[in-house]
Amino acid sequence: MIDLAIIGGGPAGLSAGLYATRGGLKNVVMFEMGMPGGQITGSSEMENYPGVSTVMDGMSFMAPWQEQCFRFGLKHEMKNVARVSKNSDESFSIFLDDGGEIRAKAVIVCTGSEPRRAGFKGENEFFGRGVSTCATCDGFFYKNKEVAVLGGGDTALEEAIYLANIVSKVYLIHRRDGFRAAPITVEKAKKNEKIEFITNAVVDEVYGDQSGVTGVKVKFKNGDIRDLKVPGIFTFVGLNVRNSVIKDENGNFICETTQSGQIKVDLKMQTSLKGLYAAGDIRQDAPKQVVSAAGDGAVAALSAMSYIESLK
Ligand code: FAD
Ligand code: NAP
Repeated sequence: MIDLAIIGGGPAGLSAGLYATRGGLKNVVMFEMGMPGGQITGSSEMENYPGVSTVMDGMSFMAPWQEQCFRFGLKHEMKNVARVSKNSDESFSIFLDDGGEIRAKAVIVCTGSEPRRAGFKGENEFFGRGVSTCATCDGFFYKNKEVAVLGGGDTALEEAIYLANIVSKVYLIHRRDGFRAAPITVEKAKKNEKIEFITNAVVDEVYGDQSGVTGVKVKFKNGDIRDLKVPGIFTFVGLNVRNSVIKDENGNFICETTQSGQIKVDLKMQTSLKGLYAAGDIRQDAPKQVVSAAGDGAVAALSAMSYIESLK
């Protein structure tokens, strides 16, 4: 049996791993299905982490985090966790999607969130062939071409600014004329001559051929349609929490969640199930920032260590 299982290797999971191993826990395993780093590794620019004054891309920003954790003994298992359950002897079972089962004294869930689909016609058909949710990954394919960006939050505006450095023009499509993004970011985007704002409009359809997307039909609130002949569209319409690991075999949550599926925690990141903690974007009222996810991870690790100590 391992001491602590951490599920997810983004800022929350890595910080939990750092605090748990450096705090003396010997057998701590972080189950991360991909490379550690989390969703910020898909960001083109990270500039609001306290104490880090150099602006860098998310991948470069996260690289030292894992090195630091591994130095203190955190183990990374590149596995997808299917679900977690609590046993009658108070231990937890971590069920992997490859059929494996690992037992742990305590668990911290740091599974974060993933990009939401917008729901327009052609989105699924052309996903990966002109429809993308990652500007850092796919922006270069559109060098000196025109692209569309959908959304009015921080991600859409920031990534539109990033794309404007690569492409010839960005059409920023948003369903209202007010924005969720920080005013400073909206101002920056509005000053960028390569970005054209198309507001009070939604994407009606993305169409194309065998080679991929060839255009985007935009529908305005008054019913007008505008046809943009672009080979690519980046959609940034928010995030869904990844909470499948806390569902039992019948699809019921093993701990309390909010209506939108975020995990309810107290100030110690303790869920309603003793020994099970949650940290980062997955938890209720998360500010969805790297700094707060990291803070949550540290708090959850310290709480889990006290809990494990209390079992002795
Ligand atoms: P995540 O980063 O989502 O990490 C969760 C990890 O869990 C993932 O690596 C995933 O692979 C893994 N995982 C999920 N389910 C399983 C499973 N079942 N089994 C195994 N592994 C699993 N925040 C800022 O502070 N500043 C910014 O400038 C900023 N820019 C952003 C730009 C973009 C494009 C995006 C998308 C987000 C940005 N954010 C920014 C928000 C920030 O990235 C998140 O708040 C933060 O990454 C949350 O960390 P987390 O560890 O909770 O979750
Ligand atoms: P978000 O804040 O939820 O914004 C999503 C945007 O997409 C909203 O403008 C929304 O419109 C629009 N939208 C939603 N569904 C749509 C649909 N079906 N069709 C068209 N438009 C749709 O998501 P986000 O920008 O990804 O940000 C997520 C979180 O991460 C936020 O808390 C954000 O602050 C944080 N983040 C922070 C930074 C940073 O600190 N620099 C950077 C990136 C992200 P409405 O506004 O009309 O609802």
